[in-house]
Formats: sequence, C-alpha cells, structure tokens
Amino acid sequence: MRGSDRIEQIYGDVVRRNPGEIEFHQAVKEVVETLGPVLDKHPEYVEHKLIERICEPERQLIFRVPWQDDRGEVQIARGFRVGFSSVLGPYKGGLRFHPSVYLGIIKFLGFEQIFKNALTGLPIGGAKGGSDFDPKGKSDGEIMRFCQSFMTSLYSHLGEYTDVPAGDIGVGGREIGYLFGQYKRITNRYESGVLTGKSPEWGGALVRREATGYGTVFFTEEMLKVRDQGIEGRTCVVSGSGNVALYAIEKLQQLGAKVVACSDSSGVIIDERGVDLDVLKEVKMVHRQRISSYVDHHGDSKFIANGNIWDIPCHIALPCATQNELGEEDARRLVANGCIAVAEGANMPTTPQGVRVFQEAGIAYGPGKAANAGGVATSALEMQQNASRDAWTFEHTERRLREIMQNIHQNCFETAEEFGSAGNYVIGANIVGFRRVAQAMLAFGVI
Ligand code: GLU
Repeated sequence: MRGSDRIEQIYGDVVRRNPGEIEFHQAVKEVVETLGPVLDKHPEYVEHKLIERICEPERQLIFRVPWQDDRGEVQIARGFRVGFSSVLGPYKGGLRFHPSVYLGIIKFLGFEQIFKNALTGLPIGGAKGGSDFDPKGKSDGEIMRFCQSFMTSLYSHLGEYTDVPAGDIGVGGREIGYLFGQYKRITNRYESGVLTGKSPEWGGALVRREATGYGTVFFTEEMLKVRDQGIEGRTCVVSGSGNVALYAIEKLQQLGAKVVACSDSSGVIIDERGVDLDVLKEVKMVHRQRISSYVDHHGDSKFIANGNIWDIPCHIALPCATQNELGEEDARRLVANGCIAVAEGANMPTTPQGVRVFQEAGIAYGPGKAANAGGVATSALEMQQNASRDAWTFEHTERRLREIMQNIHQNCFETAEEFGSAGNYVIGANIVGFRRVAQAMLAFGVI
C-alpha cells in the first residue's frame, strides 16, 4: 500500500478510537492529509507507524478539581493534562480555563502543539491542559483557590524536565502566579522552569507576554515580504482582545498599520481612526470589563453587539480569538473586500472550508501552528533563562523572537516549494514539524 493510501485509514481509526472529539478529528485531518508525499518519500515512517503513534497521546490525565466559591459552596471542575509527544523535549503547552473545555479540545490543542513546538527548532515536546472552570465573573479569591486546587492535583506530574505548562485562554499572569506559588509550596522547590509565562519580577521572561501577538505580526511581515508587500499603511482587523490580540495590535501599530476593529465574545468595536490601545488595555487587562466599555472612552467609535468582525473591510486579518471563529462565508467576504493576508494568532481559528477559500484566492495565509508559534518559542527562551539563572533584556529577547519567526517562515516556505506547493504554508508547516518529530522517533526506537 502506498504511504498516501494509508492516510485515509489512519484518519478513520482516529475517528473511531476517539468518538465525539470533533475538534481533535479536525486537527488530525488537517495535518495528516498533507503528509502523503512525505510518506511516499520515507517508507520507514510508514513501517514504524509514526503517524499512528503521534495521533495517540503518550499520556492523558483527567482529574477532579474541587474548590469553594465565595459563598462557601463546593464546586467541582474537571482538570486535564494531555502529554502528546516528548521526543524533542519535555511536554510543553498551555493551560486553558474555559467552560467549552473537554477532552476533544485539549487533544486538538495538544496535537497542534507537537508540530508548532517542533517548528520553533527549540527543545520542547507537545502538550496541553486546562479545565472547564469558567473564570468569567469570578473573584480573585475564587481564582486563587481554584488554581491551588488544580495544581495540588497536577504537581506530581510536572517538572522542568518532564512537563512545563503555561497560559492559554483564561490563564494569564495572575493564574500562573497562583499556580507557581502552590507548586513551590507543595514541592519545597523554587523550580522556576516548571511553568512559563511567569512575571518578569520573579523568574519570567521579558517579551513572553507580548510574544504570541508580536510573533504573528512578524510572520505576517515575512509572508508579505516574499510578495513584495508590507504592513505599513495597511488597514487591519484583529479578532479577540485577550493577550494575543492586544499585542498583535501593538506590533501592527508600531509597524505603521491601522487597526480598525477588535472583538470579544459579546461583540465588535469599530474605531475608524485606529484602536486606542491604552484604553483597550485598561478596559480588558486592568478592569477585565466587556469590550463595549471602550466606547465610553471613545465616543466616535462603535460597538456592535454580536457583530461579525470579518464583515469589516481590511487588508490584513488576524484571527486571535478562538477555534473555528472564521468560516467559509467569512473568508469569502474578506477576500471580496480586498484582504491580502490572514495570519492566525489563535489555534485553528479558520475552518477547513475557510482555509480552502484563502488558498484558492491565492492570498497569504499563515496557519496558527506557524504564525502563533512565537508564544511558545519565547516560553522556551524563558526556560533557557531559568536554567542558566539569567534574565535577558527586552531588546535581545525580541530580536531572538523575530529571528525565530523568520526561520519558521523560511523553513515553511522552502519546504512547501520542495513539495511542489509554493506559497502553501499549511503544507510547509505540517511537513517541517512532522519531519523533525519523525526523525527523533526513529532514533528512539519503538517507544
Ligand atoms: N498557549 C500557547 C500556545 O498555544 C503557549 C504555550 C506555551 O507557552 O507553552 O502555543
């Protein structure tokens, strides 16, 4: 059987063995359907069942997270940590706290993380975790008690050489602080390298907070460069208003673009003069308010409740909110409105049908596992600094991040060309990431 014929069979087995986990199926399909030519070139990958092994996590933890709310009532959440691959380094990937979290979400994210982390060229394996706990509207005390309980159940599975979580949706600097404090307390070790995304005041890396958003913009810059285009003077929309979106907006503005819209789960704000980032940061990061509060500070901006951000004409669109937020019709509208580049700051934000529209239209499209790899890459730089008990400057770290994003872009671009799909970053990213993991798996034998 030809390697490429095996793919269909492998995907069928994944669906059968992981019933109901639709986001995981989607993430697997998107990767394996691009690997046929690689398998044809490397029969040893088929013989050693590398794809079948990659699709089965090395380990999956599911645990109870009991906590008490401010009224003293006992609440029970479910915690997850899925270690997908540790052939290139310790398990590495964020924690997501969101009511939509279930095993299928964590597995899609963990699966993507294997290839994303391999793409960075740094020594990190792939993992993801989180909980169906909903942080929205919770007090500081409730967040702290939840994080402490979560860590109490998970700590014995973590370690700087074993598994190194970080943030994702619903987990930022505050949560990492509570998680780290509890880990330190239980283990009696100041093990800085066990978590990343820490505050620079106590072991965190400068630029980590900005890295995912900045990196997505650096990747966009590279995609445009090969087309003899640039970011300066472009009109942009950025979905979301969390950590990734805010710093994508910041870097776009620094590079001379105008960001006219962003969003949260309640709706969209449009500010034709360009989003005022100081006000947006104040609303979202300091006061943790809904995005409509922005309009109170900027009377001539507009808030559209439940609006669709992809209706707004732009040259550059950065989906930085969540999975499957940009569908086929959205993609068509973006292309019709003159969009020239889409880079994903979020994980899997574009549906497969949406991706097809971008590819058929021939616009620059950067999939998340390449375009948003700057976050986890800077986490690996944080681990480096922790291991050497050092702290780098902002400028040095940002320069490293930019180089890493340039390298990822170049590797994806050249590999897509090598496989006869010039300009297709999906194929490039999947093949580069897969080959790195595959070579290590072959070297290690059947484990
Ligand atoms: N959650 C981020 C991601 O999706 C970062 C993970 C990390 O820094 O470990 O890549």
